[in-house]
Amino acid sequence: MNAAAPHSSPAAIELIALTKRYAQGSPAVDSINLRITSGSYCCLLGPSGCGKSTTLRMMAGHESVTSGDILLDNRNIPNLPAADRGTAMMFQSFALFPHLSALDNVAFSLKMKGMGKAERLSRARDLLDRVAMSALAGRKPAELSGGQQQRVALARALITQPRVLLLDEPLSALDPFLRIQMRAELRRWQKELGLTFIHVTHSQEEAMALGDTMVVMNHGLIEQVGSPHEVYNRPASEFVARFMGGHNVLNTPAGKIGVRTDHMQLTPAGQAAPEGPHNQRAVVTDVEYQGTYVLLGLQKPGASQSAHATAELSVMVSESAFAVRPYSLGEAVQLSWAPEAAHPLQAQRCAPVTATA
Ligand code: ADP
Ligand code: MG
Repeated sequence: MNAAAPHSSPAAIELIALTKRYAQGSPAVDSINLRITSGSYCCLLGPSGCGKSTTLRMMAGHESVTSGDILLDNRNIPNLPAADRGTAMMFQSFALFPHLSALDNVAFSLKMKGMGKAERLSRARDLLDRVAMSALAGRKPAELSGGQQQRVALARALITQPRVLLLDEPLSALDPFLRIQMRAELRRWQKELGLTFIHVTHSQEEAMALGDTMVVMNHGLIEQVGSPHEVYNRPASEFVARFMGGHNVLNTPAGKIGVRTDHMQLTPAGQAAPEGPHNQRAVVTDVEYQGTYVLLGLQKPGASQSAHATAELSVMVSESAFAVRPYSLGEAVQLSWAPEAAHPLQAQRCAPVTATA
């Protein structure tokens, strides 16, 4: 660690019955409770409009809190100005000032705080050095690659020595190839800096790749909190199973269940076991080659089999298995799964927790 390293220790964050109500309609954030471990990478995930940015902006101090608390290492922060909270924010497409050099972009917030020129430039140089960008300190954003811009944006966010870095869809403006490169870099920086990162994204794949913890939100509520492995393998609700993808949702006599599409087996209808609790008849309605596997869309018998009907169920068949026994459109099959591959799903999302204080 050199002099440019943040002196601050990572902070834990706790949201208690946190609520944001805009003028009209239902709350954008509806009494959510969440504990984020200090030094962890936490991803807030959910569809557009579910309240992710509002939650992040309340932590940052860019949005007022309607009710509830935000604790940063046990200090209640909603009444503090944004600059005094120990948080810093990194935005979509990095929002660098186009007319300023990388160095001046990084030094900008210290200038706003009234720090003298020599000191702020020296601190900005140290940080650019830390993100391996000192050689390009004089360049404007347009003269930098997407990856270099991300490093400048990171240095600019770190110059205030935050204890928590808040990132709102920082990768969504990038093309898919660069996005994958940059997310690896973000992950590496988070581990190296040891700071708490809270990263908002609508991409399941991004949240799974980055997060120690994933927080899945829907309509201002938290549906599930867990490691990517826990959330993917045990989605708590129908919403999470459908939103994460890769799962079939089935109504069985025992209730609603989720089964991963790669944990289902297909057999030709003629040679299969009779229909049972872990076994259903279906018809192939879609065959998609995906490289390492083939994704088959299926309809239960009796469902509309028009050309425009969307498949109700999907099954992943490995490329090698498909080569041995290919399936074709319209073919009748038997679909089965091991009992332990099925897990129960809540139909309803989690009820909001009422504030007690
Ligand atoms: P996300 O980031 O998950 O896409 P947001 O937190 O931006 O969602 O928005 C959550 C809800 O709050 C949406 O219904 C959105 O329309 C509403 N909303 C966000 N900002 C404002 C605002 N400034 N005024 C009124 N409604 C808002
Ligand atoms: Mg948003």
